[in-house]
Order: sequence, then C-alpha cells, then structure tokens
Amino acid sequence: MLRRTLLYMARQPALRHWVETSPAARGLSQRFIAGSTLEAAINVCLRLKSDGVTATLDYLGENVTSLEAAAVSRDMGVRTLFAMQAAHLEPNISIKLTQFGLDLSASACERNAALLCETADAIGGFVRIDMESSEYTERTLAIVRHLYGRYKTCGTVIQAYLKRSASDIAALAAEGIRVRLCKGAYLEPPTVAFESKDDVDGSYMDLAEILLRTARYPAIATHDERIIQHVNKFVGDQNIAADGFEFQMLYGIRRDLQKRLVAEGFRVRVYVPFGEAWYPYFMRRLAERPANVLFLIRNLLRA
Ligand SMILES: Cc1cc2nc3c(=O)[nH]c(=O)nc-3n(C[C@H](O)[C@H](O)[C@H](O)COP(=O)(O)OP(=O)(O)OC[C@H]3O[C@@H](n4cnc5c(N)ncnc54)[C@H](O)[C@@H]3O)c2cc1C
Repeated sequence: MLRRTLLYMARQPALRHWVETSPAARGLSQRFIAGSTLEAAINVCLRLKSDGVTATLDYLGENVTSLEAAAVSRDMGVRTLFAMQAAHLEPNISIKLTQFGLDLSASACERNAALLCETADAIGGFVRIDMESSEYTERTLAIVRHLYGRYKTCGTVIQAYLKRSASDIAALAAEGIRVRLCKGAYLEPPTVAFESKDDVDGSYMDLAEILLRTARYPAIATHDERIIQHVNKFVGDQNIAADGFEFQMLYGIRRDLQKRLVAEGFRVRVYVPFGEAWYPYFMRRLAERPANVLFLIRNLLRA
C-alpha cells in the first residue's frame, strides 16, 4: 500500500520539483547512482570488477519529449559501450525504450536502439532492454523481437508481478531471447499485476525455475534472500551449472550479498545508473523500502 502511494505521489509535479531541487535528496540519491558522468560510472565498474562483480551501465533518462533528446541518449549509449571496451570491461548497457523515443515514434525508437545493438554486436557487447510500465510491455517486446532478428546481442526484462509473464517467458525462451527476471517496479492496476508480496514472490520463484530450466543464460535480478536461497537450492537439485545464469542487483543495495554470492562461486552483475535524470529512478528505489522514505523525509525536514 505504501509502495503504491509513493509511486503515485512520485508522479505529482510539485513533489518532483521539491525533491529535484533539494540538496538533501540529491545527496541521498547518490547512494543509488554512480555519479553524473560516464567517467564516474566507469570508475565504479572498475571497482566492482576488482571484487569479481560485472556491471551493466544505465545512462539515466526516460520518457523523452523530443527525438533530439532521444538522439542524445542514443549517442551516449554508443559512447558508453566504447568506454567500457576501452576500460577492459565487458561492454554491457541497459536501456529504456522511452528514453529513445517510444512515446513519439516507434520506428525512430527502434532505429536508435538498433544502432546500440549494432555497436554492441561489433565489439562483443550486450544491450539489455529494460521493461517499463505495462502500457509499454507489448511495444517493448515487439521491438526486442525485431532487434533480436537482426542482432543476437540484445535481451529484455520480464516482471514477475505481471499476470501475463508466464506466457511471455515461455515464448522468449523458445525464441532464444535472453531474459532478466525482476519483480517489477511500477504502479500497476490489479487487472494486470499481482498486488500482494506473497503473490509476487510466488510468481517470481515459479518463473525463475522455468527460466533456469529452459532459457538461455537467464539473469535472476533480486535482492530477496529468500528467493536467492530458493534459486540456489533449485540449481543444486537440477545440476544447473553456476556459469549458466547470473544474479543481478542494483548499485547501492546489498553489497554484502553481492560479495557473498561471488565468494560462493556465483556470477553477479550490478546495474549501475549514472547521469543527471535521477528523479524517477530514485523514487522507485525509495518506494521499494519504507525505511528509505523515512530517511529522506528526516533529511528534507532537517535541511
Ligand atoms: C538488476 C536489476 C534490474 C532491474 N530492472 C528492472 C526493470 O527493467 N523493470 C522493472 O520494473 N524493475 C526492474 N528492477 C527492479 C525490480 O523490479 C524491483 O523493484 C527491485 O529489484 C526490488 O525488488 P527485490 O527483488 O529486491 O525484492 P524486495 O522484496 O523489494 O526486496 C528484498 C530486499 O532487498 C533489499 N532492497 C530491495 N530494494 C531496496 C531498496 N530500494 N533500498 C534498499 N534495500 C532494498 C531489502 O533488504 C529488501 O528486504 C530491476 C532490479 C534489478 C536488481
């Protein structure tokens, strides 16, 4: 309930203005964001690498309102892939299609994303197409399928809270398209999404088992220890090799767990966001954990 209220409030322009202009909020956002520049983000990836953790970089931004802004994001995506290669990191980025113009023109958006896939293809990289709210699911999957037909260097994300996800996963696994499984971070109506934590977690575990058994190199994206234990037991029981999948977590969350999984011989990748457009990403992270909100309110009031 609190999560839903926060996600709803996050859309209100007055709150957005208050949070975006607050030095306290900007300071707190740094827990989840690697910095405002590509250079800062690369340095974070290098630190992760020295801990045995790989990274995917996300240049923050979503729902752009002009194709010029979409082109800027596309060019930054290309720069990011090359910068990772130059730093001897695996070139791996995560993108949101609304950052590349999906609200304005599906074909322009697809051309922008295709340039990133083509670049990744040329340098042995990978482009993960994140999943946004359910109004974009169908359009996102359509573009992923077109892109995958041309370049094998892309994959997508499926959200366990969506009731449609079991059939999406079955189809994507059959097509060979790599999937990252997450719980889902947007405000969704009960007609399309499970609401209770138990239902979402149950769906997550069922879908993770399907992915691990049938899909190509799935990514298990969660910080939920109960689910991670379940997955570890499942892969042990089914003799699934530790290099046949990877865990993924968000920058700034559960570093202890990331390190522990690496020490246990699992592959771990961290999602590292950077850039100036931090508000929507930050608000989703706040909504995931009530303690984060209390912390922010205390700091805003103190400032
Ligand atoms: C690599 C990665 C990529 C993702 N990509 C997408 C995407 O494309 N689309 C999408 O809708 N969602 C995406 N998400 C977000 C995801 O849907 C969840 O909202 C988020 O991961 C929190 O869920 P959880 O699985 O960690 O479980 P939860 O039950 O929310 O949390 C489990 C535990 O993790 C810790 N934790 C979780 N979130 C936080 C936080 N914000 N601050 C502090 N501690 C926290 C707490 O200890 C908590 O008890 C992604 C998540 C990851 C890890």
